[in-house]
Amino acid sequence: MPGFELFDETEKQQIDEVMEKGFTFRYNFDGMRNDVWKARELENMICETLDIKHAHLVSSGTTALTTALAAAGIGAGDEVIVPPFTFVASVEAIVLAGAIPVFAEIDETLTLSPAGIEAVITPKTKAVNFVHMCGSMGHMDEIKAICDKHNLVLLEDACQATGATYKGKALGSIGQVGTFSFDSVKTISCGEGGAVLTNDESIYNNAHMYSDHGHDHIGMDRGAESHPIMGSNYRISEMNAAVGVAQWKKLDRILEIQRRNKKALKDALAQYPEVSFRVLPDEAGDNAGFLSIMLPTEARAQEVTKALGEAGVPAVFYWYGNNWHYLKNWKHIHEMKSCAKLPIDLVADRPDYNNVQTPQSDAIMSRTISMLIQLSWSEQDIQSRIDAFAKVFKK
Ligand SMILES: *Cc1c(COP(=O)(O)O)cnc(C)c1O
Repeated sequence: MPGFELFDETEKQQIDEVMEKGFTFRYNFDGMRNDVWKARELENMICETLDIKHAHLVSSGTTALTTALAAAGIGAGDEVIVPPFTFVASVEAIVLAGAIPVFAEIDETLTLSPAGIEAVITPKTKAVNFVHMCGSMGHMDEIKAICDKHNLVLLEDACQATGATYKGKALGSIGQVGTFSFDSVKTISCGEGGAVLTNDESIYNNAHMYSDHGHDHIGMDRGAESHPIMGSNYRISEMNAAVGVAQWKKLDRILEIQRRNKKALKDALAQYPEVSFRVLPDEAGDNAGFLSIMLPTEARAQEVTKALGEAGVPAVFYWYGNNWHYLKNWKHIHEMKSCAKLPIDLVADRPDYNNVQTPQSDAIMSRTISMLIQLSWSEQDIQSRIDAFAKVFKK
C-alpha cells in the first residue's frame, strides 16, 4: 500500500517549487506565488483521473471524515452506522460531530453487510459510514439501494482504497460523499493530507467553507470574503499538496505493482485447501494494497499468524487481536472516554458501547489475516514469502 516506497527526486522537486516560487498557503497571496497552486493542481488531477466533479483537499483523512459529515448535514443527535472493523478515526469523527455511532455487522467482504445495515436502521439514522477496508469494496449496489430506500447519506471512507473502483466507478464516488487519506502509510502520501470527494455542488461548497473557518473563497481578497457558516481549520499546506502532486502521477504504477505482487501471493495460496479469500464483489477494481485470507478456525488463524512471524514474513496483521482496528479491543470507545465531556454524554438513550454485540463480525475477523502488499518487493522477496507459505499452510 505505501506510496512512500516510491519517493524520489520528483517529490523533492515539487516541494522546491513551492519554496522557491510559490507560497505555503493554499489560498490567495496571488502576487507572491507566481501562479504555483499545488492544492488546486492535485484536486484537479484527482477529479480528472477518477471522473469525480469535486475533490477538496484537507489536512488528513480524519479531518476529511469530519468535514464530509458536516458538509453532508450530519450532526448532533444523528445516528451514523459504522463497522466494527475499521480504523478508529471512523468512530472518532462521528463522536466529535456530536453524532451517535451505531455498529453493524460486516460480511466476508470485510465491509458492512447489506443485512447488517438494515438491521440497525432507526428513525434517527442519517448516514452510513461505509469503510472500504484494506483497499476494496463491499456489495455496493445493494448498499446504495438500501441507503436510497431509507434516505440515508452514503459516506464512503475510501481512505485505504485510493484508486480502487467498483464496476468502473471510483470508490469514494458512489455515495453522496467520500474521503481519501494521504497520510504517511497510505497508497498516495502527502506526508499528511486527505480529500473530500463529491459530485454534489452544495456538499462541495460546504466542505471547502467548513474546512477553512467558513470562508466562501469568492474573490481575490481573503479579508473581504464573507463567512456563510462557522467551520474550523482543516486546511492542507501547499508543501503537503506538492508531495501529493508527485505521488498522484505514480498512481497507475502503484496499482499495477500492487496488483501484480498480490496476484503472485494469492495464486500461491490458492493450492492450500484451508485458505479461503476475502470476497471481492469486483475483483478487477481492488486496489490490492492488502491480501486478506480466512482460516477455518480462530485457533488456526492465531497459529498461522505466529508461524508466519517465525518464518520471517513481516507486515502480517491479525486485526482481531490488535487494539487499533477492531471494536473488541477499543476500551476507550467502549467507555466513550475522551479528555473532556463529549456531546454524546448528553444523549440519554445512546447505545451501551460496553455491550455492543457483533457476533458475525467476530466470527469472521477471528479467522482473518491480512498481509500488506509492498511496492518495493523484488522477485526474491515474493519467492521467499511463497516459500514461507509452504512451511506454514497445510496441503
Ligand atoms: C488512515 C485512515 C483514516 C484516517 O486518515 P488519516 O489521514 O491518518 O487521518 C480514516 N479511515 C481509514 C479507514 C483509514 O485507514
